[in-house]
Amino acid sequence: MCCSMNADGVLVEVRGLTKSFPAGRGRSVHAVDGVTLDIARGETLGLVGESGCGKTTLGRLICRLEEASSGSVMFDGVEITRLRDKELRALRPRMQMIFQDPFSSLNPHKTVEQIVGLPVWLRGMRGREAIRARVGQLLQLVGLDPSQARRFPHQFSGGQRQRIGIARALACEPDLIIADEPVASLDVSIQAQILEVLRRLQERFRLTAVFISHDISVVSHVSQRIAVMYLGRVVEVGPAQAVIREPLHPYARALLAAVPRIGRSAERAATVLSGDLPSPIAVPPGCRFHTRCYLDQVPECRTLEPELREVRPGHLAACHLVEEATQRCQ
Ligand code: SF4
Repeated sequence: MCCSMNADGVLVEVRGLTKSFPAGRGRSVHAVDGVTLDIARGETLGLVGESGCGKTTLGRLICRLEEASSGSVMFDGVEITRLRDKELRALRPRMQMIFQDPFSSLNPHKTVEQIVGLPVWLRGMRGREAIRARVGQLLQLVGLDPSQARRFPHQFSGGQRQRIGIARALACEPDLIIADEPVASLDVSIQAQILEVLRRLQERFRLTAVFISHDISVVSHVSQRIAVMYLGRVVEVGPAQAVIREPLHPYARALLAAVPRIGRSAERAATVLSGDLPSPIAVPPGCRFHTRCYLDQVPECRTLEPELREVRPGHLAACHLVEEATQRCQ
């Protein structure tokens, strides 16, 4: 089953995307394993899961900062996994990343004006004053004072640096933004401000974005749909409100139960995650979540990998007992 929505407005189509890294002694790390999903134009897809579940690798594969082992990514009708360097370079400005650590992603020797001005220049704008005015506009959009444009990154706080990163991404007027844990390194109060900036920009420009986070409550603030990843696979995907209010997969339920604000307390005792994420070098057979699943499992859980299937309209989960799990937690 494909995690798709209306086909007309699809910007990105991911099909069977897989990425393995060699891990020595003939073994492989299965970082992303057969992911299939669509991203609609103008939507923000939240990608959530524990550290090591493959969400960052999937984000990098989508904009081809990482080479896929197999599978395909269609971006606006172009299959990008096989593009040559020159063609890929031409496409690059249309796909921008916002990184977790704003400091290391900004050149410390360049002023903000130079950092944000470069993509403006690459987009074809010429003339120092015109570029300066455009940089000022972009800084205002992300809530920064344009008069600070001649400062260097180290003269800004972490939250301000992340705003600079967002302004730089916007400067390319991209079709797709991939934000990889953009607030993970910030204080909670600053996180809320940056999320608000992203939400506002998303609304204003109808940006298409993938928002990656280990924190499902963070993702829920900015996403129209949420995909939950576990050990390289998408185990649930659906409209954000449906995933938050009525999660289908036991793993998604456990992630939500761990968040007091949006988890339902009565559910908590039954859905606490035990143990660590298994190694992606030795993925458990059958359902890869079976070593931590708190449901009364059936034999297939250990032998047969469950496929994603539509349980409610547009809401898919990969679990043999999804109906039972859903009833149990109602
Ligand atoms: Fe748990 Fe089985 Fe469902 Fe996997 S398939 S989540 S082990 S009940």
